[in-house]
Amino acid sequence: MKKYIVLMLLLTLTAGMLFAGGAQEDGSKLVVGTSAGFRPFEYRDKGEVVGFDIDLMKAIGEEMGREVEVQDMDFDALIEAVRTGTIDVIAAGMTITDERKERVDFTEAYFVADQAVLVREGSDISLDEAADLNNSSYRIGVQNDTTGAFWVDENAADAEIKKYGKYIECIQDLENRNIDVIVLDKPVAEAFAQNRPAEMIMVIPTDESYGLAVKKGSALLDELNAALKKVMESETWDELMSTYFST
Ligand code: GLN
Repeated sequence: MKKYIVLMLLLTLTAGMLFAGGAQEDGSKLVVGTSAGFRPFEYRDKGEVVGFDIDLMKAIGEEMGREVEVQDMDFDALIEAVRTGTIDVIAAGMTITDERKERVDFTEAYFVADQAVLVREGSDISLDEAADLNNSSYRIGVQNDTTGAFWVDENAADAEIKKYGKYIECIQDLENRNIDVIVLDKPVAEAFAQNRPAEMIMVIPTDESYGLAVKKGSALLDELNAALKKVMESETWDELMSTYFST
């Protein structure tokens, strides 16, 4: 009887290992978590997740000799996903902050950005300074757990703040007049202004740096930093910049 139990246990364990899937630090596939809807960094084009971060990760994967698989989820689910090992690395225009550093490890910065104020095209909202947003007559939309949301919580608490899982719902609500303002990263505000009936009326200088993020203590960090450095020093980087940021 005992023998059977041991055998069953072994079989279950082996099957578990074979079918575990998900992220594996030493396997060939690098599972990248992102949140599409943050154009030009990650967005859907004909159903496929594409963008600056995706191409960057493909180039990094090539340097590391690992195939890249992309998993799309809500932005506020990414940190937990990397902590539990569902994904290996976050590539989502994620700002390096002290609070996040307590939960994940960040690579060196690969991009610098500010926040910005986006309104509907033709809106009569005009601000002298960002602090004017702290007014109960404004309905401000932000994406959950982003630095834009943190900024609004801290600086515009008197406004009516609506939080969304995805920017796509946020921009739809702006167009449908359910909110008046969105506070979000400037490069993405510029992309919305180009592709949707929206305009950017102010930059909020927050001087944020984007990094890739991994599980705390992960051996991947050094490898990613080395690969990121190589890519940033190569022509691929200039091509990425001109593909996604030329106007
Ligand atoms: N850079 C912002 C942050 O890290 C927004 C990122 C995003 O929405 N993808 O909070």
